[in-house]
Amino acid sequence: MKILITGGAGFIGSHLAQLCLERGDEVYIIDDLSTGSMDNIRFLMEDDRYRNRLFVTIDTILNHEVMLELTGTCDWVFHLAAAVGVRLILEKPLESIRINIQGTEKVLELCNKFKKKVLIASTSEVYGKHLHAPLVETDNIIYGPSSKFRWSYAASKLMDEFTALAYYRTHDLKVIITRLFNTVGPRQTGAYGMVIPRFVTQALRNEPITVYGDGSQTRTFTYVKDVVSALVGLMEAENAAGEVFNVGGIEEIAIAELARRIVAMTGSTSVITLIPYEKAFGKDFEDMLRRVPSIEKIHRLIGYEPKTDLDEILRQVIQSIREKA
Ligand code: UDP
Repeated sequence: MKILITGGAGFIGSHLAQLCLERGDEVYIIDDLSTGSMDNIRFLMEDDRYRNRLFVTIDTILNHEVMLELTGTCDWVFHLAAAVGVRLILEKPLESIRINIQGTEKVLELCNKFKKKVLIASTSEVYGKHLHAPLVETDNIIYGPSSKFRWSYAASKLMDEFTALAYYRTHDLKVIITRLFNTVGPRQTGAYGMVIPRFVTQALRNEPITVYGDGSQTRTFTYVKDVVSALVGLMEAENAAGEVFNVGGIEEIAIAELARRIVAMTGSTSVITLIPYEKAFGKDFEDMLRRVPSIEKIHRLIGYEPKTDLDEILRQVIQSIREKA
């Protein structure tokens, strides 16, 4: 199988590329290295087993000619290229909205032209500020006002979902939508705000751990290798097209508790500090207080179950950040 991965030099994209190469696929990556990095894929490019099966293009997905060629060449398209991370969205709102909306439209337009099966990586952010759990794919969505820019990320990804579903309804394009719940693992950087690599790095340096708000907000973390297996599983499935699937973990944890666990597991002398949201992100910020997926739908279709629990995820991340230090 020839597989195009947009954002293939990113954190999740690089793990997906690795899985596809291990499966024996031919892998085409396009990445503009905005948040992705050659460091994420160098080990794949230098691996003799993959030398003739891995092709990397450094360019934007908005480049029509390049995307035309790549989409025409491949059988499946995994569209992961996007502006990600709350901090990045707040710092570069216009670029983020543009790449998320125009980029996805471009990918869908070309997949439709060549009738290629495509998976769109959406996000649990799309649900907005619910307090109930678990979140089911058919739940309503609740956002704050447009003055609070955090929601621009959710709204842009929701627009991607609508566009994808419209292609499915109008042109019968085989498109699958996945809502990813806080994917974590080796190679994820804390530079764009992601909490686990940030806390682990702080803990390993014995620096203060920066818990935003009062730390009672919760998340459900998912190991990246579980996520990429699920993405491939959905592409292989017969009845996934035109559907939205949560891809997530099981253990809900409060961020303050996460900080305590990371301090304990690293043997750090770090002090846990509470930082008001306003100080971390400015006054127009609001957080999602709870985020737990229902994974019943994806379990029913492809038997998905997260195999890696939070302690094992933390062990893996701690080890990989230790090795890099
Ligand atoms: N968070 C935190 N300290 C940090 C980074 C993040 O307390 O240094 C919190 C953040 O406010 C959120 C949770 O950790 O409640 C997860 O944040 P992340 O940016 O990883 O993902 P998302 O907000 O998209 O779930």
